[in-house]
Amino acid sequence: MNTRILDGKKTAAAIQAEAREELQALKTQGLVPGLTVVLVGDNPASQVYVRNKIRTCEEVGLKSEAVRLPASTSTEELLEVIRKLNENEEVDGILVQLPLPGQIEEEEILEAIRPDKDVDGLHACNTGRLCQGKPVLAPCTPMGIMEMLRREEIPISGSHAVVIGRSNLVGKPMALLLLHAHATVTVCHSRTRDLAGMCRTADILVAAVGRPALVTREYIKEGAVIVDVGTNVIKEEEEAIRLFGAASPRVIKIREKGYTLIGDVHPRDPLGLASALTPVPGGVGPLTIAHLIKNAVTACRLRRGR
Ligand code: NAP
Repeated sequence: MNTRILDGKKTAAAIQAEAREELQALKTQGLVPGLTVVLVGDNPASQVYVRNKIRTCEEVGLKSEAVRLPASTSTEELLEVIRKLNENEEVDGILVQLPLPGQIEEEEILEAIRPDKDVDGLHACNTGRLCQGKPVLAPCTPMGIMEMLRREEIPISGSHAVVIGRSNLVGKPMALLLLHAHATVTVCHSRTRDLAGMCRTADILVAAVGRPALVTREYIKEGAVIVDVGTNVIKEEEEAIRLFGAASPRVIKIREKGYTLIGDVHPRDPLGLASALTPVPGGVGPLTIAHLIKNAVTACRLRRGR
């Protein structure tokens, strides 16, 4: 079987081009949606994510800014920043970059963001609306994945979807969105018995675990569509050779950069067995940022009644 590689960059570019047009139309009405990303501390990965988000937002014409706070920021200090952003009429979307430093009450912060500015879709109000299938700001990664499945014309209705992972950020909203699209959904997690056997019944398999190459050949039904959300770093050359093969450019990447990215799905096992697969990198990652822009525009439209 020929395994189609689902190009997340291409889909993200299409979503962004549409957002750019929508933003230009809003601009003619004197409206420029604004997104604020709050970054606490100096986690290197978070700094890269925030930089990428701001750059991509600006490329499409979304007014965006980063609020950078020291790693020592307290819950109360961060709540005060959120309160001001909630009240600021110019700010349509607020995103607090996770993870937060250990001393900060993450749940309290996420609940403090006004639900209609919650572009990450993590407020309990938005989770509840998502559960009920009401219009909502839902988490960007699963929303981006649904958009890609739709654009790639992957049939969902009536299919069996298995989601590995049950986080509030990815697994749970993913399962709900697939359910609303009329899939029969199974959610697996660290206590699931016979994970491979469960996954082998999936027409659509979404892996959102955070375990490098967990999903191997015995997890995959012939013809399944595999969505790999995992973004894991490997640094050992020997491990890269075992997973990617000695001739892979990834092995060279480890020698040059000291690391390479790998998903939750084995990079070679699905080839020839699955009907479609999202690569890592270049699959789900770009869709997440593209959908953040979409959420910011939606938040602006809903709040300002346009
Ligand atoms: P998370 O909060 O750590 O959740 C991981 C989930 O996987 C949990 O539900 C956990 O089960 C389950 N799990 C862990 N080990 C397992 C195992 N051996 N077998 C079966 N299930 C297992 O992670 P997350 O935030 O959902 O993210 C998941 C992955 O996606 C990470 O690699 C993250 O970096 C990546 N990610 C990528 C993007 C993107 O834009 N590409 C966006 C978000 C996240 P329990 O609940 O039982 O502990």
